Amino acid sequence: MAYIEPAPIKDKENPFESMMSRFQIASQALGLEDEVYNVLKNPTKQVIVSLPVTMDDGTLQVFEGYRVIHSNILGPSKGGIRYDMDVHLDEVKALAAWMTWKCAVVDIPYGGAKGGIKCNPRQMSAGELERLTRAYTQSMVEIFGPDRDIPAPDMGTGPREMAWLMDEYSRAKGMTVNAVVTGKPLVLGGSLGRTEATGRGVMVSALAAMEKLKINPAKATCAIQGFGNVGSFAALLLEERGVKVVAISDLSGAYYNQNGIDLRASIEYRDSHNGSLNGFSGTENIDGEELLTLDVDVLVPAAKEDVITIHNAEKIKARLIVEGANGPTSSKADAIINNNGIMVVPDILANAGGVTVSYFEWVQNRLGYKWTRERVNRRSDRIMKDAFDNVYKVSLEYNVSLRIAAYIVAIDKVAKTYKFRGGF
Ligand code: GLU
Repeated sequence: MAYIEPAPIKDKENPFESMMSRFQIASQALGLEDEVYNVLKNPTKQVIVSLPVTMDDGTLQVFEGYRVIHSNILGPSKGGIRYDMDVHLDEVKALAAWMTWKCAVVDIPYGGAKGGIKCNPRQMSAGELERLTRAYTQSMVEIFGPDRDIPAPDMGTGPREMAWLMDEYSRAKGMTVNAVVTGKPLVLGGSLGRTEATGRGVMVSALAAMEKLKINPAKATCAIQGFGNVGSFAALLLEERGVKVVAISDLSGAYYNQNGIDLRASIEYRDSHNGSLNGFSGTENIDGEELLTLDVDVLVPAAKEDVITIHNAEKIKARLIVEGANGPTSSKADAIINNNGIMVVPDILANAGGVTVSYFEWVQNRLGYKWTRERVNRRSDRIMKDAFDNVYKVSLEYNVSLRIAAYIVAIDKVAKTYKFRGGF
């Protein structure tokens, strides 16, 4: 049993309940009818599969895989696949619903879904991960499809896994179907700009929010929790706009330098040390919790759910929180943060740059055409900025936080579409 560790026991808020409590508040503010509320509160489909995989040492190990389709009212469902030991049904359900709201907030024609496999990808070989990904894809051949349900990377997965998924699906269909998945390597029909897209959207929404708060980026400091794909690109792009990134963190700990972290060095270090910052020098080592409460202008949680909670919310000094991760703030912490006058650009808005460029990738695949990086960036920046402005406007109209405003925008769109399409 070398590969399965018990999930750490944490004092965690259930992510599905966290999502539902915001959904409830926004539905009430919007005056959503009970019938529509009942439709949207339940996922359309939940699939759980058991995946026997031969490990390198010849033993057979059985993994549990999930795919939850929350909604396909706006179009084919869209959402990433997570490989992590904390994956469980309630997490996948919450993440799937967040994808529905996220796609609606940025106005792209998709519903929401999410998948996951409970595993520890850092302790698995490439061969084991390939067999696991192919087994998962095989079991989802009837679920996935370019007009049905389109997966993408999430925590623990990337272009390599998406390539295996596309290949396995294509074999099953007897033809190359590259539009079945996004976040692919460029040569397989991936889009320029997709890798950095989520971090780029975080940067665009952070700058839009800083403008409202009259924070000058050239004088601002920022702390970034999580230094994976989202956190590291957000850091680089914010730095390019003049923001000083003074702290970063990952599972190995947090790293602080009041004069600014050397981001290129930290990324190089991470990439040559099995994805970890462990041992990174030139900074002061601080506690991961301390990073969240640093005296900075902007805090970007870019790891996973439930890191800003009732236990630390009161201590947060940042004036602006931009949620690169999905669900980093527990719903119980919302009130504390709002009372303290901290602006939060919520996950379903701030990290929507990733799915936006996934949409562009799918469009390019279907056209059989390739866009330039410049076109991808220009169009995604515009979508992110427009979405921010719209959510900001609704927050003033309803006198609610940006988070509840984003839910209002999303629920309103899905509910209207549902009413036009009609149920049974
Ligand atoms: N996993 C990413 C997210 O949570 C991207 C999803 C996608 O591109 O479909 O937004």
